[in-house]
Amino acid sequence: MKTIGLLGGMSWESTLSYYKSINEGVKQTLGGLNSAKISMYSVNFAEIEKLQHEGKWDETAAILSDAAVSVEKAGADFLLICTNTMHKVAPQIEANISIPILHIADATAHKLLESGVRKVGLLGTNFTMEQDFYKGRLSDKFGIDVVVPEQADRLNVHEIIYQELCRGEIKDESRKVYLDIIEKLHQQGAQAVILGCTEIALLVKQSHTDVPLFDTTAIHAEAAVKLAIGS
Ligand code: GLU
Repeated sequence: MKTIGLLGGMSWESTLSYYKSINEGVKQTLGGLNSAKISMYSVNFAEIEKLQHEGKWDETAAILSDAAVSVEKAGADFLLICTNTMHKVAPQIEANISIPILHIADATAHKLLESGVRKVGLLGTNFTMEQDFYKGRLSDKFGIDVVVPEQADRLNVHEIIYQELCRGEIKDESRKVYLDIIEKLHQQGAQAVILGCTEIALLVKQSHTDVPLFDTTAIHAEAAVKLAIGS
């Protein structure tokens, strides 16, 4: 079994989901007392979040690159960056390590294509919904058409992530906000919606809506398990 490298803490609320999901995946596949081999570095998210909102992406890349080097030294065979947003600096991180990165957008795109989804809604932080590192990868590399919410809705989605979900606060009224936005994206022709922030599945689950949801945390974790045990 390969050792899975995790760059976590962004936020730790979702790193918990990764840890659980990866271990459950290994248990389901191999049975018995089998569990995942993991090396993890969990950052202080307050430092990262401040730099993000100041636009100091090179500084976030430096912190995450150092962390990734530690994960590699601790024996990881490949790396997961446990957040969609910080894939913005995936190329800089990749340049500092010799193990491959399992990219969250690639894992998600493969799942979408397997399910026949060619036009998809995207929810995530403003960075993820507005910039090209994520949307562009889905469209340029995989030919998937991406729809994002209108500006006011994007702001609500973003604020709920940082003010509530990353702090472990799950509120019914915020779930309603998300479900209304998911419905709007569906009405704009999205066949499905990507939960493109690793905390969103803590708030919105498939049982809350008929619109197919693609949870990036679960998809990324499942891809890691497959790569680790070679199935
Ligand atoms: N975990 C979130 C994501 O998947 C947001 C936190 C962050 O900015 O990294 O984008």
